[in-house]
Amino acid sequence: DVRVRYSPSPTGNPHVGVIRTALYNSAFARHFGGTFVFRIEDTDAARDSEESYEAMLEAMRWLGLSWDEGPDVGGPYEPYRQSLRHEIYTDVAGTLLETGQAYHCYCTPEELDERREAARAAGKPSGYDGRCRTLTQSQIEAYRDEGRQPVLRLRMPDEAVTFVDLIRGEITVDQFNLFDYVLVRANGQPLYPLVNPVDDALMGITHVLRGEDLLSSTPRQLVLHRALREIGVASGPLPRFAHLPLVTGEGNRKLSKRDPESSLALYRERGFLPEGLLNYLALLGWSIGEDREVFSLEEMAEAFDVTRVNSNAARFDLRKAEAINGAWLRRLSPDDLAARMVPYLQAAGVLPASVPDEAMELLRAATPLVQERMTALDEAVGMLGFLFARGVVPFDEDAVVKVLTAGARPALAAARDGLAALEKWNTEAIESTLRSALVDGLGLKPKHAFGPVRVAVTGRRVSPPLFESLELLGRERTLARLDAALG
Ligand code: GLU
Repeated sequence: DVRVRYSPSPTGNPHVGVIRTALYNSAFARHFGGTFVFRIEDTDAARDSEESYEAMLEAMRWLGLSWDEGPDVGGPYEPYRQSLRHEIYTDVAGTLLETGQAYHCYCTPEELDERREAARAAGKPSGYDGRCRTLTQSQIEAYRDEGRQPVLRLRMPDEAVTFVDLIRGEITVDQFNLFDYVLVRANGQPLYPLVNPVDDALMGITHVLRGEDLLSSTPRQLVLHRALREIGVASGPLPRFAHLPLVTGEGNRKLSKRDPESSLALYRERGFLPEGLLNYLALLGWSIGEDREVFSLEEMAEAFDVTRVNSNAARFDLRKAEAINGAWLRRLSPDDLAARMVPYLQAAGVLPASVPDEAMELLRAATPLVQERMTALDEAVGMLGFLFARGVVPFDEDAVVKVLTAGARPALAAARDGLAALEKWNTEAIESTLRSALVDGLGLKPKHAFGPVRVAVTGRRVSPPLFESLELLGRERTLARLDAALG
């Protein structure tokens, strides 16, 4: 049975790179009808925070990436927070020590530094030199008498480690680059290199899909996996690994947690749909084929094949993300879209906390006018705000300078008179009146005829289709705004 895990460290805010990892794991699990485990790697008390932990969970819920085992839902390998698994790690560390897979190292940081420098100067590998691998009992006692506290190191093999990465193919690391590394600090704190493989082994993880930045730790972790099976702490085959391509930002740099466009919160605030964001993240390294770019999580899960993930870095392209999200916005029914715009309009103060029925009706009626051109929900504020303003609208400064000039007065005045005399207030009547008054009557080109009307009524040079907008706005407010623009 396929078992995969998403195991973020709760440091900082969830970013698009780790969410892509979560998504690929989820799709992989679903593809095989397997199990998706959510584990929190909070072993670094200095960097982890409860706030970040909550944000990790909340992000997954918002995205609709549900997990089969993990926080909240529990599961057969509870607990799923490493900070609650200390005893397990202490036990395993003890067994590794007893069986000789690991050993106590009493070298002080100063001694290690000194020898590292010397090795470097001699052009030799500068990793741990294995000094404490073969201490005698009396040497150990002497160190103890000095009051030294040992760290625990894993004994690495005297041969190369080879494994097959599901994306990158065979990878070999020779023994000269595999140093006995620290599993437990002198103060008893178990470290990531111990706890991550131990949990993968104990939780029966079959496939590890994770970022390329962790590729270099895989050979060492495989050695620990083998040791755990040899000493009977775990059983079953070794997990298989797939290292997902780096996500890069501007200038092909690795997208870091600190880059603003990497923060998941940004996309939520702007009003990306979870479906749209996930769809875009899916494309960072994988494609469903047949030139198809818009697909659902279900469709992805059905088609997902990790061996077809690209090993090249994937560039995060905000424009593309917006285009994909726009496609998802167009898939919504207008009423659904209207409902999803409400919180954004409320946050901007365009709509009150409790939306009156007429305002909701107006919003529903206006939604088809903007649905084709939106890329994120927060654009509703700029596109539709004018419909909900009570009196006149504030004008964009450049709209005033470029459009509401003195030369625009005749057009505004003619529009005002024509519309005031209109019998029926509907889109067709508004259009034909304005055309005959401004284009035929004044001989203006449509751009010069309707541009000033648009700015007067919406405050902006770009708006939803003008005649429909005027119909929705109503005669009274339209005339009041034309009057205000005429001054
Ligand atoms: N907790 C690790 C991190 O956030 C992930 C380790 C892994 O996926 O193996 O970088």
